[in-house]
Amino acid sequence: MLYNNFMSKNYLNLMKEEIEKVKKNNTNPKLLLHCCCAPCFLAVPESILKSFKIDIFYFNPNIYPQSEYEKRLDNIYALKEKLKLNSNIIIAEYDPSEFYDKVKGFEQEKERGERCNICIALRMEECAKNAKEKKYDYFCTTLTSGPLKNADFINKTGEDLANKYGINYLFSDFKKENGYLNSINKCKELNIYRQNYCGCEFSIR
Ligand code: SF4
Repeated sequence: MLYNNFMSKNYLNLMKEEIEKVKKNNTNPKLLLHCCCAPCFLAVPESILKSFKIDIFYFNPNIYPQSEYEKRLDNIYALKEKLKLNSNIIIAEYDPSEFYDKVKGFEQEKERGERCNICIALRMEECAKNAKEKKYDYFCTTLTSGPLKNADFINKTGEDLANKYGINYLFSDFKKENGYLNSINKCKELNIYRQNYCGCEFSIR
């Protein structure tokens, strides 16, 4: 699954255009937001939180060890409480073998390489599938919050999944316009745990 040869778009502008459209229609559509951790959620702009009815989808079989998976989930709950979010938190099954089977042979790849593409696509597809089944209007992921993540790959994957499942995908590039910096500051302010590795055991080294 190599997605290195597609044209890069301005995903931030596409996101803003969609938010404007939603605001104009005043429909407050339902959005299922795949969330990898609380710090990445904190990079999501207010305009999205206000324009959509958001539920959080926690599907991250890549996270190692299990105690870390639970710690990140606990911090999403803490965030919900501290920010008084009206969102449901939907937790999908945690089965790390699903991740290991998919990335077999790519364990030694560097971050942003093929292992990450597989890992990201796996999590986004589960979100798209669930969003469609549960009748959300849109799906999205917080994964574009990280400076090491490939926003082109994430958004192209989102676009492909939207076509495959017949659901809207909200483009994003959350790290931009100080999103990443804001997330760091808000973590300190709200006393939210900020991990120092991406998630899988191969990213700890
Ligand atoms: S480094 Fe992050 S994105 Fe890449 S495979 Fe590991 S957990 Fe997934």
